[in-house]
Amino acid sequence: MNKLANFIKIVLRQSHKALEKREIPVGSVIFDPTTGKIVAKAHNRELSLKDPFAHSEILCIRKACKKLNQKRLDGLSLISYLEPCDMCREVIKSARIKKVYFLFKNKNPKRKTVAKTQYKKVLFEEENLIKEFFKMRRANN
Ligand SMILES: [Zn+2]
Repeated sequence: MNKLANFIKIVLRQSHKALEKREIPVGSVIFDPTTGKIVAKAHNRELSLKDPFAHSEILCIRKACKKLNQKRLDGLSLISYLEPCDMCREVIKSARIKKVYFLFKNKNPKRKTVAKTQYKKVLFEEENLIKEFFKMRRANN
């Protein structure tokens, strides 16, 4: 677990970088637990990129996927300054990251302070491309 201490140092450095830019101070590192090597590191850049996706975890996942030239990060671990929010959790799940460490608990991961968005299914019963896509994929296997 000595490696984890090194990763924490990098997470702290990344978090400080974000703070220097007046961003929410969250940094992340993705590493391979079998080799102990860092795959990617990033810090929050929502303000500078004017991008609500630019949480450190998302940017770190994007960098790791680009570096490894794949859309999944099976078996890799992520360490973040703050417990990932719900958006990041979903992306972490999609990327198949196996383990997530964090230094501080997120007191508002569901963003209860933000106005609720309404989701409504419209009446539409015609072609379902999603269904067709997975049917085609199953047929090809
Ligand atoms: Zn997030």
